[in-house]
Amino acid sequence: MTLDSTDLFGPVLDRRVVPVLVPMPAPRAYSYAVPEGMAVEPGSIVQVPLGPRFVVGVVWDGEDDGGVDPKKLRAIEEVFDCPPLSPEMRAFLDWVAAYTLTPPGLVARMALRAPAAFDPEPMVEALRLTDMRPERMTTARERVLARASDGLSWTRSGLAHAAGVSSSVIDGLASQGVFETVFMPPPPVVALPDPAFAAPRLEGPQRQAAVDLLAAVEERKFSVSLIDGITGSGKTEVYFEAIAATLRAGRQVLILLPEIALTASFLERFQDRFGAKPAEWHSDLAPRTREKVWRQVTTGQVRVVAGARSALFLPFEELGLIIVDEEHDPAYKQEDRVFYNARDMAVVRGRIGNFPVVLVSATPSVESRVNGEMGRYRPIHLPTRYGDAALPDLGIVDMRRHPPERGGFLSPVLVNHIGKTIGRSQQALLFLNRRGYAPLTLCRVCGHRFQCPDCSSWLVEHRFRGQIQCHHCGYSERTPEACPECGTLDHLVACGPGVERIAEEVERHFPDARTIVLSSDLMGVKRLRLELAAIARGEADIVIGTQLVAKGHNFPNMTLVGIVDADLGLANGDPRAAERTFQLLSQVTGRAGRTGLKSLGLLQTYQPQHPVMQAIVSGDSDAFYQREIHERERAALPPFGRLASIIVSADSRGDAEGHARGLRNAAPRVDGIAILGPAEAPLALIRGRHRFRLLVHGRRNSDMQTFVRAMIAAGPKERGSISVQLDIDPQNFL
Ligand code: ADP
Ligand code: ZN
Repeated sequence: MTLDSTDLFGPVLDRRVVPVLVPMPAPRAYSYAVPEGMAVEPGSIVQVPLGPRFVVGVVWDGEDDGGVDPKKLRAIEEVFDCPPLSPEMRAFLDWVAAYTLTPPGLVARMALRAPAAFDPEPMVEALRLTDMRPERMTTARERVLARASDGLSWTRSGLAHAAGVSSSVIDGLASQGVFETVFMPPPPVVALPDPAFAAPRLEGPQRQAAVDLLAAVEERKFSVSLIDGITGSGKTEVYFEAIAATLRAGRQVLILLPEIALTASFLERFQDRFGAKPAEWHSDLAPRTREKVWRQVTTGQVRVVAGARSALFLPFEELGLIIVDEEHDPAYKQEDRVFYNARDMAVVRGRIGNFPVVLVSATPSVESRVNGEMGRYRPIHLPTRYGDAALPDLGIVDMRRHPPERGGFLSPVLVNHIGKTIGRSQQALLFLNRRGYAPLTLCRVCGHRFQCPDCSSWLVEHRFRGQIQCHHCGYSERTPEACPECGTLDHLVACGPGVERIAEEVERHFPDARTIVLSSDLMGVKRLRLELAAIARGEADIVIGTQLVAKGHNFPNMTLVGIVDADLGLANGDPRAAERTFQLLSQVTGRAGRTGLKSLGLLQTYQPQHPVMQAIVSGDSDAFYQREIHERERAALPPFGRLASIIVSADSRGDAEGHARGLRNAAPRVDGIAILGPAEAPLALIRGRHRFRLLVHGRRNSDMQTFVRAMIAAGPKERGSISVQLDIDPQNFL
């Protein structure tokens, strides 16, 4: 088959001026001239001059407005030898930009996050055996010749490794003409997954679930399924079948996971089922790997990607299925530059690309639950755990009746169970979603509290490091010995617990146990992966961790989970506080008893009657959801109403407040849309910037984007240090 550029890239347009989207916060594409002899089309990835620099951009859709004299236009410098972004991908990027009220260039930039990947990967130099033989034979040389006698091409180091010789042996042979140099295509980042590699026998309700799901996948058109089943019920096993069907149909698959960098076990599990790992995509990838993955996704060499939210912006060659695992997880919301929820945008990408999307969770978001109940999503239930894995028994520890000893945070009930568990050589997990030693330090003499100089937040003591730190801006100082206010020495007290302080308490009770603290500030991703694997092998007795231990890990010998402070997330003014607490606590207690051992989850709480606690211990999540859904409906909160948050920040409090007021006054009057605020944000100061919030509240069918755009357009201009952040469908109310 011969290909010419028309087959590869579609018809070449002869327009001489084209719009190019550059990775900048500009409101629209800029016009560029196409030099004589250069072929571009919408979607082409190009290099263009911008000011004094060159940047990568994408030829965009639409006619050039002809507003600029073509002679004054700057020209496209280069077209990369790279598949153009597809019409679906461009429509998706435009949609995200319009929905999130973000300049389209900033959204397009997310699709181009692999600077050196736009040119084809270079061929790899390799060696192939000729008819020549060396003058003198050695055993090492014989081994090399035997290896290479298959007639295939080998890289120098690959052959040396395979033959068990040093590469100087290869060089010696090559210098005598025994090898010729050839070039071979670069190796794929991952092997091809095989849908038939190790198909499981689905059991009980899993079978019907798979039938329903496969029906959706085989339609090959847009639909959303919501797999809702308790941890260990086989959700992953079932959606693997949908992946297999998509691979058989010759289409690519994207699996979104909230903490992909930490879930190495997922990759292995995928490999057990499909005989090869999926390609990974997240911010901790080495740049070279990242570029290879990006390139091979666009060419279709990579068939399955498992990635963090940003993987949604990879330009797949032919995407046919997106799985969003743990769809309720707050990590899907990005709150930086482009404010978007990858779960929701995955649904949009499926709709634009006309393929199925599968949302998966043991504790779905209220939004997805409601969509399931209303018939917008296809609900798929898995009500029981697979095999002999029993759910943990769950109990409440009423902290008013069983208070910890003075200065401690663990009730005698929990301590007693920890002792029994490690006495049986099993593992206990203590969960507390607070890094460091103590969230607040104060002086016992004058009452001085240590506060961040740049943020309205307390400095958190990190005793392992000997520092007090701000968790919002990273400010830190050495833990002082004297109070800076009254000068008294050694009278500073730590208030409240963090994981380090719990570790200290545990060590007091169980000095001989192997105790480990898992917290993102104590180690990097690589270390964490190793530690998690070591824990799974049983190399720790008591694990104390923040929320990163909640995510997807499988600790076979973990039979006790203690929630140190189940009330922690409840009182923060977030309309999703109860839902979030329920999800997090369910997920953490779900870490226990995954292998058939009898297990226990204990929630320490001062509010044992709270609906969240009751829902978890009774196992009756339906009642909890019904109550929560009812509350949301009554208050017209999402998904029954819509929210948009506007945060105005500035170097001075007055500027921030004045601008926020100006915006409010400029808002159009629209039936069904109301504005709350401006009010000082709960985090009134971050990194020295004063913050005011406006919350726009609309009905379900309100056009929030048009409203907010009109308000910004009619409002005061952003000047000086003032900046305005727009967050459609906010998850964060600080
Ligand atoms: P979930 O995703 O709902 O937490 P998983 O798919 O991880 O559940 O299943 C829980 C455990 O049970 C896993 O170790 C999985 O390999 C095993 N399992 C589930 N279903 C089957 C099956 N049909 N055949 C073999 N193993 C299964
Ligand atoms: Zn700070």
